[in-house]
Amino acid sequence: MKRAIFFVLVLTGGLSAGPVSAQQAAATIGERLLQDAAIKAAVDALRDDEPQVIEDQVRLCEIPAPPFKEQARGEALRQAFQALGLKNVRIDAVGNVIGERPGAAPRPSLVFSAHLDTVFPEGTNVRVSRSGPVLKGPGISDDCRGLAVLLAVVRAMNRGAIETPGTITFVATVGEEGLGDLRGVKNLFNIEMKGRIDRFVSVDGAGSGITHVAVGSSRYRVAFKGPGGHSYGAFGIANPAHALGRAIAGIADLQVPRQPKTTFNVGRIGGGTSVNSIAFEAWMEVDMRSSDQAALTALDAAFLKTLDVALAEENERWGNKGRLTLEKTIVGSRPGGAVPADAPIVQAALSASRALGITPTIDEGSTDSNIAISLGVPAVTIDGGGEGTGAHSLAETFDATGSWRGTARAFLLAVALAQR
Ligand SMILES: [Zn+2]
Repeated sequence: MKRAIFFVLVLTGGLSAGPVSAQQAAATIGERLLQDAAIKAAVDALRDDEPQVIEDQVRLCEIPAPPFKEQARGEALRQAFQALGLKNVRIDAVGNVIGERPGAAPRPSLVFSAHLDTVFPEGTNVRVSRSGPVLKGPGISDDCRGLAVLLAVVRAMNRGAIETPGTITFVATVGEEGLGDLRGVKNLFNIEMKGRIDRFVSVDGAGSGITHVAVGSSRYRVAFKGPGGHSYGAFGIANPAHALGRAIAGIADLQVPRQPKTTFNVGRIGGGTSVNSIAFEAWMEVDMRSSDQAALTALDAAFLKTLDVALAEENERWGNKGRLTLEKTIVGSRPGGAVPADAPIVQAALSASRALGITPTIDEGSTDSNIAISLGVPAVTIDGGGEGTGAHSLAETFDATGSWRGTARAFLLAVALAQR
């Protein structure tokens, strides 16, 4: 027997309520939902369900999910989605695991997600150890926590026979970390569910934070190349290592705004074969970031110009003898942007937190929400509860003390955002 609950919440604006009333509705949605008996019962049940969430978290974490090799963990999620009765359970072309929980109508369409991949290479020992409430293992918080919370949200909705006005699609994404370059969520928005996502939530890591500022990044591998030769015998030709030095000096002097925070870093350099050889190649890897897309675009353009200037100067210095070439390869591109702090989706996340006695931090970061935000789809990334340390390290931990509140907040937010 399904029980329908209806709260009027216009998150996309312009339909039946103006932006002010949508905001006001969102600002109290968590508290109002908790006054509904079915919702209250579901939240209470989640407190007792938390040991199961922890079990799932450990079980999923002990299945390796290195970058670009998320299949085994993905298969475990597919089976879990199926066992929970989600509809149209499938794995898309890039490996995202997708399952739908239909509401009264297809829209609004909420995607509720967490990511499958870790930063740890193949062969990493992924056994999880426990000491009281503290779990320790690579990926235990980032993002096995999110995956386990996703399953708990579905369980709570099923147990409470909660029917939502809109449809929720649960997704375990691939490629959130590093060189994965958000390929899972990019495929989701650009192909798999193109034009059919109205709101987006990513549950990522431990803690109580709400992230609505998406830090964008632009990453390059750059190589200067030339004929190379003997350091004495061939002297007088353009030198790739020297060109690289010119480029780095130029980058070091780039001007960026302090607000919005915009950064650049030459992270790795290399090349050459011996001290008495003119290198035939010198390379670097560069990372640039900003929470403001315009600032990132401007920095990107200034960086590329610096490379061209370095190339021209080194070639001219030697009268174009042993002319160099320049290769620029984009190895990462994440758009930046922000959902305004007073946007309904952020207000709903704050309200859900308050309703459960959580005082959230407001964060900025680079997560699956970046893609949603860059496309103008309201999105937040929320922490999954508990406390974590050492993300991206082998000594990563998750402290489950009171972590059920994080699960319950995710549940409340999912229900809130599936309202009209
Ligand atoms: Zn993560």
